[in-house]
Amino acid sequence: MREIVHLQFGQCGSKIGTEFWEGLCMEHGIGTTGHYEGDNDHHLERINTYFDNVQGLKYVPRAVLVDLDADGMNFLKSNPIGQVMGSQNLVFGGQKTDNNWAKGFYSDGAEKMETVLNVLRKEVERCDFAQGFQIMHSLGGGTGSGMGCLMLQKLKDEYREKVFTTYTVFPSQKTTYAANEPYNVILSMPHLIENSTETFCIDNEALFNNRMRSTESPTIPAMNKLVGPVMCGITAPFRFPGRLNANLRKLAVNLVPLPRLHFLTPGYAPFSEGETQSNLTVSQLTQQVLDDKNMLVSCTPSTGKYLGLSAIYRGKLSQREVNEQMYNMQIANSTQFPKWIPDNLKSSVNTFPPNGVNASATIIANTTSVKELFIRISQQVTKMIKYGSFLHVYKKEGMEIKEFEDAQNSVSDLINEYQQC
Ligand code: GDP
Repeated sequence: MREIVHLQFGQCGSKIGTEFWEGLCMEHGIGTTGHYEGDNDHHLERINTYFDNVQGLKYVPRAVLVDLDADGMNFLKSNPIGQVMGSQNLVFGGQKTDNNWAKGFYSDGAEKMETVLNVLRKEVERCDFAQGFQIMHSLGGGTGSGMGCLMLQKLKDEYREKVFTTYTVFPSQKTTYAANEPYNVILSMPHLIENSTETFCIDNEALFNNRMRSTESPTIPAMNKLVGPVMCGITAPFRFPGRLNANLRKLAVNLVPLPRLHFLTPGYAPFSEGETQSNLTVSQLTQQVLDDKNMLVSCTPSTGKYLGLSAIYRGKLSQREVNEQMYNMQIANSTQFPKWIPDNLKSSVNTFPPNGVNASATIIANTTSVKELFIRISQQVTKMIKYGSFLHVYKKEGMEIKEFEDAQNSVSDLINEYQQC
């Protein structure tokens, strides 16, 4: 079995991690005690991708949960999913990173890293053959960003041959936001560019805008509810039989033609609830899932180029119909598919339905439009550096301005690379 080892960092990592594991437990029939309560053979067929079977009795998420303060731990304890988690895999500290990347990467996070690695090594040893790792974190704070990047570097040093995946939340000025967050993002980016194999971008701006369409004041928990089904959709092919993206490496082969350009934009349908959304046809799902409004990044893929595109349909849908819809879409938008990457649109039907609806569609787009996200953050940083605002916070931790300039240059290079495609 080719297992995936999950790690989550910081407050945001804890919360979106909870959405992910709740979704997985429901889809695999695992109850709050960790026992199997389902009645479908498909539930258990590939459950080992994400769960350890403890003495044939219980299923425990293969997850290492890390936060430098107690917020993440308190959140887990107050949540039923906390009971399913292996208690020896919770690593929590008493420090606060004060939204400071340097504290996560250089000081407090670095001090805790050996403890995390010891827990992680035990998980890897228990696997038959781990295919890779997935990290859930946000880049706006200190733990998820700084310590998450340090983790990625350590993983790459120790497990060179594996696949390194991140589910990365980018900040938005429209949501809870500290003024120095763009710095934490920019400092993280060179690490993600160099060390991640595939990064699923989750942009709070897109989540906020999506929720704004149904309520006047979107909350973070409501935004997180959008993320759970998407992560279930992306990982469905790893967990249930199907033709496409059966593991992390195949996903990278299908979607990442150039190793640095691995920042993927997920999209999903149906995002809204209600009976009319529960039974969508292939045509309706296709139309919705390719709509810019249904993307998890605030950008416009309809005007960009696809370096790769995977569409994962779930439910009792016809593969022939899906093929037809995808073919028609590609013909109608042929200029968006560069000729130098042949055969870069893939689709499949996974007959096992998602939670709550009869059918869904998830896309994973490697679109050049993702550069709009990096331009947004980069422009914020340029303004801040010009006035030197908040730099003293990082200098206090021993950082120098050169590190910020190098990170900015690295992001500019990335933007240029997307522009040249
Ligand atoms: P850390 O614990 O130091 O890593 O800090 P946080 O995870 O709280 O990071 C702060 C950033 O993450 C800010 O941009 C917040 O808006 C965002 N954030 C925090 N919690 C959540 C959450 O549950 N969901 C989402 N989508 N964003 C969050």
